Amino acid sequence: MPRTKIVAGNWKMNLDRAKAKDLAAAVAARRGEAAKVELVLCPPALYVETVGSALAGAKSDVRLGAQNMHDKASGAFTGEVAPPMLVDMGCGYVILGHSERRTLFGETDAAVNTKTKAALAAGLVPIVCVGETLEEREAGRTAAVVTAQVTGSLAGLSPGELEKVVVAYEPVWAIGTGKVATPEQAQEVHALVRGLLAGLSSPEVAARVRIQYGGSVKPDNAADLARQPDIDGALVGGASLKADDFLGIAKAFA
Ligand code: PEP
Repeated sequence: MPRTKIVAGNWKMNLDRAKAKDLAAAVAARRGEAAKVELVLCPPALYVETVGSALAGAKSDVRLGAQNMHDKASGAFTGEVAPPMLVDMGCGYVILGHSERRTLFGETDAAVNTKTKAALAAGLVPIVCVGETLEEREAGRTAAVVTAQVTGSLAGLSPGELEKVVVAYEPVWAIGTGKVATPEQAQEVHALVRGLLAGLSSPEVAARVRIQYGGSVKPDNAADLARQPDIDGALVGGASLKADDFLGIAKAFA
């Protein structure tokens, strides 16, 4: 069975409520341009309801996701959002371990692992991000870093859980910089990740896991990435803030 391609937009801490609603409506209206691709919008948590309503109003199958969550289902965690709350609001996906969370908020592989298990327990599809810094790449440590992140973040998952996970390979040096990895650089790491997933479960399970590339994906570089055998979609930051660009990328994976 070929893997269904998945393109997700990480809106980060951008837009306002009106713009979030308009962008969701614009993506929903043109969703047919990439009909076979699973599309996910990940707005700021506060706008999840607005975006969810816009998508529901358009009777769209564009899916809703969050950018982060706490690992506990409820409790005294001021300012946090619980996995069941995301489900309650219509989210089906959650981005975990994004490099900004790892770097700016100190998230470790162990923390990402706990969150991944919590997301799966709540019925969310975790989009688990991994990727090396420029310094690590230049020191020849890409494989070691990505191996530690994948095995650490996905440790202890059953095969059934693992096949629900989406992995996003996002080289940190490519995020928001305009410097995209070459298709060959990306494919090399994607193949490594798939091998690691096979080691964590089996080649059959690994063959079913979607691995997205992220890092300055734009409509004009998406097609070359999409041609690589182990690149199953994209996690898109900046370009997801414009419906034209987001759909242009999605079309490349259609
Ligand atoms: C991201 O933050 O996940 C990302 C890939 O950003 P950008 O597309 O802007 O590089």
